[in-house]
Amino acid sequence: MKKKLGLLYGGKSAEHNVSLQTAKAVTAALDLYKFDVYPIYISIDGTWTEGEKLETPASTIEELQLTENGGTEHVLSMLAQGKYDVVFPLLHGPNGEDGTVQGLLEVLNVPYVGNGVLASSAGMDKVIMKNVFAQAGLKQVGYTHMTRTEWEQNKEAGCALIEREIGWPCFVKPANLGSSVGISKCQNKEELIGAMEEAFQFDRKVIIEEGVVAREIEVGILGNEMPVCSVIGEIVPKKDFYDYKAKYEDEDTALIIPADLTDAQKMEMEQLAIRAFRSLDCSGLVRADFFLTESGDLLINEVNTMPGFTPFSMFPLLWKEAGVEYPQLIEKMIGLAVERHIEKQ
Ligand code: ADP
Ligand code: MG
Ligand code: MG
Repeated sequence: MKKKLGLLYGGKSAEHNVSLQTAKAVTAALDLYKFDVYPIYISIDGTWTEGEKLETPASTIEELQLTENGGTEHVLSMLAQGKYDVVFPLLHGPNGEDGTVQGLLEVLNVPYVGNGVLASSAGMDKVIMKNVFAQAGLKQVGYTHMTRTEWEQNKEAGCALIEREIGWPCFVKPANLGSSVGISKCQNKEELIGAMEEAFQFDRKVIIEEGVVAREIEVGILGNEMPVCSVIGEIVPKKDFYDYKAKYEDEDTALIIPADLTDAQKMEMEQLAIRAFRSLDCSGLVRADFFLTESGDLLINEVNTMPGFTPFSMFPLLWKEAGVEYPQLIEKMIGLAVERHIEKQ
């Protein structure tokens, strides 16, 4: 029997366009003899639209920006009626990667690819994630956080606290986002004020971290109860740091796969990555990102519960190097979704 797959993409987030590009690539890789694929588009304003069953892969992202056929209520009733055997949320950032959509699918009893509610939401909030990692004994950079209200009440005091606890350079980030949106590196108070104002455009909570000079090393993890690591890779941004433009527009950000590491470093990294995965109770997949400092410390930076997933993104490339091609990777992820759903019953 062919599986009916709902491919959920777009979304009410700053990473809307990234999701569209991913969805296009996934439709091209899915075996349409094995799956009946139904595109489900979430517009930037949050309206859900279901498309007709795909007969051929999408050739443009415009084609995937559906406007006709139902609207949100229609799609939700299709989901509730069990139309899809499994839903594949290809969503990044808030309202997609953060446990909200996962919660909706849980309530409707629909199996879905990727992390569950808890891991998705804890992984989306960089402050909560770092608190959990700290509790699991994982090393990381120093950090603090501030809400918009706290900041606006007393910016001088905020700056003084950050200068005292974190120092320069520091990184300012919206707590709940990805793709480097709204992130700045600051060398002084003036830059800090600008960076805080910028980050508060995206979130009511901001994390401020110690800046480190380090190599950026990443590993993919697949599995539910028995997670396994991919080959390890390294990103070498040509710019000061791996910002949005470097991630999606520059072609000269080097991805080095496999990363040049000693066997001991690889083993340590795998153990830490699995510990991070388990500490957040992840399932399906994550990409765990580390800083390797000059003194040889492996600091966890973050896990991404729905990492970049075009065929040219780090996560699929790491698995490719490990012998798992893109179409096979997609099928494995769908299989893990079904497995978790059965285990939960
Ligand atoms: P996102 O979830 O948006 O990817 P990250 O926390 O990974 O956010 O930050 C994006 C990039 O910014 C990182 O890949 C790295 O290049 C740089 N960066 C972030 N935090 C730090 C830090 N504390 N020290 C040095 N570089 C950092
Ligand atoms: Mg991230
Ligand atoms: Mg990152």
